Amino acid sequence: MAEHQNDPSAVQLWNYFRSVIDWVQAIFPKKRREMKGLPWGLFYIQHGKRTDLDPKKLELEIQRLMGDEDVTRKSGIYEYLLTGDERKLSIRAFDMRDRLAAYERQLHKCVYCGQVFEFEDMHGDHIVPWSKGGETVAENCQMFCRDCNLKKGSD
Ligand SMILES: [Zn+2]
Repeated sequence: MAEHQNDPSAVQLWNYFRSVIDWVQAIFPKKRREMKGLPWGLFYIQHGKRTDLDPKKLELEIQRLMGDEDVTRKSGIYEYLLTGDERKLSIRAFDMRDRLAAYERQLHKCVYCGQVFEFEDMHGDHIVPWSKGGETVAENCQMFCRDCNLKKGSD
């Protein structure tokens, strides 16, 4: 194989793909259709050297998230587990009924600044964050005005 060391293209490319595939199989051994089409090469570059990824723990998390109704984008589970970026999961937003109930409960006031706003100018938000086990249900909905919602960051 020594003579191929000066022939970078094919051999290096093959080794690279092998490394990506080996890594994915080691970290996420159970194949799922949601894995199709994800940028695994990029994930490998960004996370391939990490030593804190436990396949057994990850699999339990995948099972839990696959069964979570609030996770509307199941293909985002893998990137979420690697990066912790909740936006990848498209957590279900509160529907009109939940938001209206919270709006009335709060007497049309923003929970943060206390000022009165029109319903259309407010945004539904989790009281207990989804990441801390809070579900997208009426009892866990609170309403922020647009400014306060932007200040506090999206959920
Ligand atoms: Zn406000």
